[in-house]
Amino acid sequence: MAAALTALAAAASVQAAGSGARWEYQGKAGTAHWGELAPDFSACRQGKAQSPVDIRADRASSTGTPAPIGFGYRASAADIVNNGHTVQVDLADGGGIDVAGSNYRLVQFHFHTPSEEAVNGKRYPLVAHLAHKNDAGDLAVVAVLFKRGRDNAALAPVFASLPATAGEKRAAAAEFDADSLLPAQRAYYGYMGSLTTPPCSEGVRWHILKQPVEVSAGQLAAFRKLYRMNARPVQPLNGRVIVVNR
Ligand SMILES: [Zn+2]
Repeated sequence: MAAALTALAAAASVQAAGSGARWEYQGKAGTAHWGELAPDFSACRQGKAQSPVDIRADRASSTGTPAPIGFGYRASAADIVNNGHTVQVDLADGGGIDVAGSNYRLVQFHFHTPSEEAVNGKRYPLVAHLAHKNDAGDLAVVAVLFKRGRDNAALAPVFASLPATAGEKRAAAAEFDADSLLPAQRAYYGYMGSLTTPPCSEGVRWHILKQPVEVSAGQLAAFRKLYRMNARPVQPLNGRVIVVNR
């Protein structure tokens, strides 16, 4: 009995130190320390194919030009969640994308400020990461970069009343179609990377759309009131090739 209880306690503490470990962007639990916070965060420190990266456009390869992304998004019921690290929109049935011969279902999208990915060393004020999963459990992300400009109508239903408190979740007033977030041109930079938050798991297929869309100063301020900075620093490429379809 005592042994069983000890084993249970050990299991509980492993769990507490694992995926439930508290992490932040700055300070003692900040990006530089993620790999030390829990055993299952080790990829954050030891991984060799981490995200985000700085995309050097002149070094991107157009050899074996990647196929366009087959977008098939549709309007879906949505929950808007403040998860303590970002604002995330969970979609019940938002369609998906066809890439690399597989269909990936859109699960959620969320935001980082500034953009995590840099292009030629430059970061944009905001990025949306649209996170997808296929039947095998593989992950694919589409990143939409935002530059300063006019009010973004697609963001309005989410940004007009962002859930202000960590843990707060509310249903969106209307169905959301992720297609409304996309720029007109869907050419992209592609590479293999990781989750940009703990546990930093690798094998994630990244697609960064080249054409940015606009976000207004007011919308940006509304997000930054909740999250002033929630971007991981860029990670070494370690020989990875970034492909581009021009
Ligand atoms: Zn993200």
